[in-house]
Amino acid sequence: GPALLFVKASQGKEEGRRFYACSACRDRKDCNFFQWEDEKVSETRLAAREEYNRKHQPSFTHRQNVERYKNFVLLPLSKRRFCQECQQLLLPAEWEKHSDHQFLCDISTAQLKSPSQLLCPLENKKTNAQYLFADRTCQFLLNLLIDLGFRRVLSVGTPRLHEMIQLKASQEENFKVRSLLLDIDFRYSQFYTEDEFCHYNMFNDYFFGGEAARETCRKFLYEDNGERVIMVTDPPFGGLVEALASSFKKLMTMWKETGKEGHDDKEMPMFWIFPYFFESRILDFFPSFSMMDYQVDYDNHTLYKHGKTGRRQSPVRIFTNLTPSMIVLPVEEGYRFCTICQRYVSSGNQHCEICNSCTSKDGRRWKHCVLCKKCVKPSWFHCNNCNCCALQNHSCEKTDAACFVCGKAGHKRSACPSLSHS
Ligand code: SAH
Ligand code: ZN
Ligand code: ZN
Ligand code: ZN
Ligand code: ZN
Repeated sequence: GPALLFVKASQGKEEGRRFYACSACRDRKDCNFFQWEDEKVSETRLAAREEYNRKHQPSFTHRQNVERYKNFVLLPLSKRRFCQECQQLLLPAEWEKHSDHQFLCDISTAQLKSPSQLLCPLENKKTNAQYLFADRTCQFLLNLLIDLGFRRVLSVGTPRLHEMIQLKASQEENFKVRSLLLDIDFRYSQFYTEDEFCHYNMFNDYFFGGEAARETCRKFLYEDNGERVIMVTDPPFGGLVEALASSFKKLMTMWKETGKEGHDDKEMPMFWIFPYFFESRILDFFPSFSMMDYQVDYDNHTLYKHGKTGRRQSPVRIFTNLTPSMIVLPVEEGYRFCTICQRYVSSGNQHCEICNSCTSKDGRRWKHCVLCKKCVKPSWFHCNNCNCCALQNHSCEKTDAACFVCGKAGHKRSACPSLSHS
């Protein structure tokens, strides 16, 4: 889909030079598209690009994949193979072509219903590392949104949540929740119909399936007989908040336009799952959002597993535009309700009398610094040189590089003043 316009800041110059680059791939190794904003592109180069794009299309369309799936499920177990190298379900006529590839045999119906288990997670760090929800987290999210009364989930980059919903819908008669998955991982088109999955880029709001796919999404957002919709998204953490926010606003607008009445001053309910140190960035774009204390855990992320298991605690949280008091967090996992803040907080998150809020962002008990006039991490001390709190062994020189969180120069991410957004 469309490239994004970036600006190359150069020292000493007032304005940087602007250029287009791929919206989805932040690593030039994955996509080397680059073009200065004012660059004239020759016919030959355009033709070469088109040729390149044609050659890099997936081998089957979504429609073809749906047909293939229908044929695949008719096969006896002994003929159901999945090529691990190509990440593709194989029909018997294709075995030959993949004969020197590794494959899995006897693909069961259960396996077909859990594609996130069958497919190997994409691991490219910068582009689309896939971190799949731990079962506990996925179950929690689903129960939460059911308790909140939602019956439709727009799953944007949350294949595992989508899968859990689809699975329950096929097994339990009384389960009425539906989900539509929007994701850039086209491998999922092998397992879901065009009403269940749209190939989508959340950095530029691009539907690869064109107007028909956009229409599928629009229809899904239309709230028939009171079936309320919520959008749940868990973007790659390297993603640009600005680009994501712009796409999510467009999806919100799409939702708003489907509403006959009553949507006028409302926003589409949303869970945006992202690390807590992006709080101020997200609030910049979505002032109606607040951050929940719930720690989102992943299966395949060694760092981001639940604290209680002795691992490091996950920094990933839920940002939502729903009223915080409605987001009930599990007491058995140590969360409690703060009656003053009117929201559930981590067990270690103490209400600070001076800030008049439960101030911890990371689940540990934070301490109030009277000089900074705010609560800070327990490991920080007030430094009179820097005139703020920091780690005891920090070096007082300020850094020139831009901060990863707020983009401003002068401090590193760990000392970012916007981390303690109030
Ligand atoms: N925790 C989620 C997965 C999050 S990983 C779950 O368990 O369901 C991030 C997801 O975003 C992946 O599924 C990945 O394929 C998808 N993704 C990455 N870049 C994307 C893009 N540009 N547009 C849409 N989806 C993208
Ligand atoms: Zn193969
Ligand atoms: Zn305080
Ligand atoms: Zn201080
Ligand atoms: Zn200092």
